[in-house]
This record gives sequence, C-alpha cells and structure tokens, in this order.
Amino acid sequence: MTAATPAQASPPGPSRGGGVLRLVNPATGGTLRELAEDGAEAIARRVEKARKAQADWARTPLEARKAALSAFAAAVAQRKEELAALLTSEMGKPIAQSRNELIALQSRLKFFLASVDAAVADEVVHDERGWQEKISYEPLGLVANISAWNYPYFVGSNVFVPALLTGNAVLYKPSEFATLTGLAITEALQEAGVPAGVFAPVIGGGEAGRALLEQPVDAVFFTGSYATGRKVAEAAARQLMKVQLELGGKDPVYVADDVDVTATAKGVADGAFYNNGQSCCAVERLYVHERIHDAFVDAFVEEVKGFTVGDPMDEATYIGPVAREVHVRVLEEQVADAKSRGARLLTGGARLDRPGFYFAPTVLAEATHEMALMRDETFGPLIGIQKVEDDDEALRLMNDTEYGLTAGVYTTDESRARRVLAGVNSGSAYWNCCDRVSPRLPWSGRRHSGVGVTLGRAGIRAFVQPKAWHLKQPR
Ligand code: NDP
Repeated sequence: MTAATPAQASPPGPSRGGGVLRLVNPATGGTLRELAEDGAEAIARRVEKARKAQADWARTPLEARKAALSAFAAAVAQRKEELAALLTSEMGKPIAQSRNELIALQSRLKFFLASVDAAVADEVVHDERGWQEKISYEPLGLVANISAWNYPYFVGSNVFVPALLTGNAVLYKPSEFATLTGLAITEALQEAGVPAGVFAPVIGGGEAGRALLEQPVDAVFFTGSYATGRKVAEAAARQLMKVQLELGGKDPVYVADDVDVTATAKGVADGAFYNNGQSCCAVERLYVHERIHDAFVDAFVEEVKGFTVGDPMDEATYIGPVAREVHVRVLEEQVADAKSRGARLLTGGARLDRPGFYFAPTVLAEATHEMALMRDETFGPLIGIQKVEDDDEALRLMNDTEYGLTAGVYTTDESRARRVLAGVNSGSAYWNCCDRVSPRLPWSGRRHSGVGVTLGRAGIRAFVQPKAWHLKQPR
C-alpha cells in the first residue's frame, strides 16, 4: 500500500510558464484548467479602479454594505454544493469537509454582520464643560488580501468580509492552488451587489502577490507560511503600510494521565488529520503522560488506521491527496529524519502507490525535539508522539517552539488544564478540544505564527483606523 509512486507519472502542481497558470487536480495530477495570470500592468489598473471605487463604497451607508454581504451569505448557502466541489477539485479536500467549511462559513458571516455596528460605532470617551472627546472609526482604504489555499473560504472571508463591511476596497489574491474558489467568491460578491471595483481578484502565483505589494495599497492582510510572511512584511515596510500576518503553527497537545484514552485518541486524531493535517491549527506535536502512553498510542494508531483514504469526491473519504505535489517530499524527509534519529514508525510513512498526491496517514512514536518532525511545520497527514513524565515536562516541551498559534490539554481536571494553559505562549488555548476556531474569539499567532488579529471584535477593528476628535464648544 505504501510504495512510492514515480513523480514523473503525474505533472507537477500549478506552473506559470509564459503567464499561464495551470491548475492541477491533486487527486489525479491532471490539468483542471489553464488561466491567464495577471501581470503588473493589469494589477496596477485594478488598484487605480479600486482606489476610486473605495471612496464611494465608504460613503455607502453601513446598512447597504451589510445588505450586500447578507446577499453574499445567501448566495454561498444556495451554491454550497457547487462551491464545495470546486474546492475539492483544486486542493483535494474531501467533499464532506469542503461542505463543512461552507456550512461553518455561515456562522462567521452571521457574526460579522451582527457585530460590525457595535465594533465601529462612534465612542464618546469624555464630555465635560464644553469639551467633548470622541473616537470615530474610518476604513483603512485599499486592502490587499493575500490568502492561502487550505481553507480558502474561511481564511479569505476572515479578511474580505470585515474589510468590505467597514468600507474598504479589497484586492483579493487567492493562492494559485485556490484560484477557482477565488473566482467563485468574486462572482458571488459582485452578484450580491459589491461593486466590481470594490472587490477584485488578482490571479496568479507568488509573482502576482509580489506585484500587488509594489502597488500603493494601504494595508496587507496575509495568510500563509512564515517564510512568505517575512517577505510580505518586508514589502509592507518599504511603503510603511499596515501589515497583518496569519502564519503557520506547530501546535502541541498534551494528554494527561486521567483521561478516557479511547475518546481522547479519537478527538486528537481528528485534530491532527482533519483536512489531511493541512490546517494552520492542526495538532502537530503530541505529548502523552507516561502512565497512559502505551494505551493511548495503541488507541491513536487504531483510530488512524481506520481512516478512509481515497478519492476526495467520495462522500466516505476522510483523507484525500495533499494539495501540492512538492509537499510530498517534505513529508518524506520528515519521516526519514525522524526514523534516522530513533523514532518508531507505527503506521504509514510513505507516498501511496496511486495517481495523485497521496501520502499515507502516518504516526511516529518516540519522537524528540531533535527531529524536524517536532520542530518544523509539517502541514500534512503526519504526527510525532513523545512520552512525558509530568505536566511540567509537557509544558516545557510545548513551549519549545518558534511558533505560537494554539495549544491544547486533555484532562478531566480543570484546574490542572488551566495551570498548563496559562503557561503556554500561544494565541489560543484549548481544554479538551483542539483544531478549533470560533468567529467570536480573536484569532492570533505569536512569534513565527504571526502578527495581528482576525475574528472577534478585534478582527473587525483591524480594518478601521481611529480618528480622535477634540471638540470644544464656542463660549
Ligand atoms: P504560502 O506562504 O506559500 O502562500 C501564501 C500566499 O502568498 C499565496 O497566495 C501565495 O501565492 C502568495 N505569495 C507567495 N510568494 C509571495 C510573495 N513574494 N509576495 C506576496 N505573496 C506571495 O502559504 P500557503 O498558501 O502554502 O499556505 C499554507 C500556510 O498558511 C501554512 O504555513 C499555514 O499554517 C498557513 N496558514 C495560517 C493560517 C492562520 O490563520 N494562522 C490559516 C491558514 C493557513 P501562490 O500560492 O500563488 O504562490
């Protein structure tokens, strides 16, 4: 089942020779579509148009902007099946999970629509003897939204929905691996009444992203890897524009010795392997208390062996192909490095012998922090497990990372969970859950996991700038 497939058998991922973007179905390696990439001149024209359109959009009453985004929500709900199939076709997410993304998108849209008024309402902070001090919130202007492919409907909407609601124009650069969903989002927004100049796509690979950041935009909101995030921050610094970065993770979970082993193994395996492990907040490191270690590992491996691997268009599939063929090599290298340093391969470990970019769900025990598996972002169906002797050792290892997106603890003892989670240096803390995002809570990464906040009230405020009013009544 796990023999390597020769890479020559299938074409590589999207390529961009001569301004043509070739979109590939990761489940087959075959070409889905070819599209013309946007060059620097086309991007410059769109920026100019967006800048003009933004002024009118900002003057459009908030109620009218909300009506347009409500119509977008309705269109997405109505086209759910079509949009889910599109996502599955271009990045290989199992169809049931693509549908879940679209269903959960509705609660995000609902949150933004319900919260925007309060988030940007004027605030009078002082009013005494003829002096008033007031804060109003104004749009940033023109926002570049450079997005990732793993949850394009989610990570895109975290930015463009609050940006549009608060009166900004958005140039949306989907990942080249999520181009078709990017175009579908554009169509749905424009049909819903968002003017074409106010939201426009930029189609292409990294080159198109680079060209966009050479334009006079007012802010860039980037979702992607740490390596690209740094380049984006450098480009933003050249123009001194606002920058927010939602980057990668190496998210740990600690399983204490008082849990229901089977139920916990099931929950954590889902947190590690859902979306083929290609989630920014996927569980990527697992620390298990020595008293339950062996029983937990057995239950965990049994759960992983039970995953249905197959065609992502099949309703029963839980693990499809990874989105990008080049990433198969990263997974192979992490497995080889871990094995050479003493990790024990319990299941999986290699590319599957079938067309497309399939990698077997893989578990390695006796992992250590000497291994890339426990240090570098994996972003695939692969996890390392390390035995720990107590909570203190777990906490020390959880914090031994350059990332800081999420961290979780499984225990029946709430005070024990709170003690460990208070000590972790991450933007989100999970007790008896993992791999979870709520629209009501701020989503932020620390250290190499990012800069800034999306979601929650702070994630709406991120798209406006305060104006401080000092108002003195004439005597
Ligand atoms: P990349 O960093 O490869 O790409 C992100 C985006 O940047 C893409 O649209 C890409 O275009 C574009 N890009 C590439 N080079 C440049 C450049 N020089 N200037 C401007 N834009 C550029 O990330 P992935 O798309 O592979 O996404 C996976 C990563 O995203 C993982 O690290 C994951 O953890 C992280 N992520 C973080 C989230 C969070 O909330 N913290 C949420 C989701 C993902 P193209 O793809 O066309 O090359």
